[in-house]
Amino acid sequence: MKLTVLGSGYFIPTKKRNNSGYLLQIDNENLLLDSGPGVLRQLIKTGYSVWDISKIFYSHLHIDHLADLLPILFIRKYSQPQERNSELSIYSHQDLNRVITGYEGLFGRWILNEKHPYRFHSLESGRSTFEHFSLRVYQAVHTEQSLMYRFEDAKGTSLLYTGDTELSAALIEAAEGVDVLVTEFSSIDEDPKPGHLSPAKISFLLDKCRPKLTILSHLTPETEQRAVIAQIKIPPNCVVEAAEDLKTWEF
Ligand SMILES: [Zn+2]
Ligand SMILES: [Zn+2]
Repeated sequence: MKLTVLGSGYFIPTKKRNNSGYLLQIDNENLLLDSGPGVLRQLIKTGYSVWDISKIFYSHLHIDHLADLLPILFIRKYSQPQERNSELSIYSHQDLNRVITGYEGLFGRWILNEKHPYRFHSLESGRSTFEHFSLRVYQAVHTEQSLMYRFEDAKGTSLLYTGDTELSAALIEAAEGVDVLVTEFSSIDEDPKPGHLSPAKISFLLDKCRPKLTILSHLTPETEQRAVIAQIKIPPNCVVEAAEDLKTWEF
């Protein structure tokens, strides 16, 4: 498994951090987790393009996680890839289908694509199996359409992507014993933002679930400060690192 952070920022892009997006590679299959504004361009910087992505998983329908879906569909319609399997599968809460149907109503033939079709698949809590990995989906406490994804490859290595979330029983269940936790970190304890995680909440989560590696992402100008990250209590044998745009981890 290989993870490349395309966007490690919160809802406002900064000079340092793009909006949310991650390239997750499992057995040479390239998955995109969220595609906030600017993620396509970040993807190009890694040497990949929309044609290399077979599946996109959306954590929820906030714009900072979703906006580049429309250009992805447009580019897939009008760029000329070499012939190869280029069907795109899009996974999310069922309400994303309303967004896609809306795009199709507005943009019609500019995105509708018979030659290289995209297909929407709605997900809810539960387990699914794909060719190169298995997936467990959990409901996140953030919006009604928020999902967390726990991927597991053939070797048993697991990665949980939380998207935006509040601390919850489902989050603790999802993160239990996971190898890699990619968690949002957008709140401080002194001024808690509902639906997001603060140092105290992440400390509690790490103590309960003991992920081997925790990658802090969806960082704000406040939470990216070293002094704020240092408030997180790290259990023995656990590693915590802050995400950076275009940083890669292999596990
Ligand atoms: Zn967000
Ligand atoms: Zn959100």
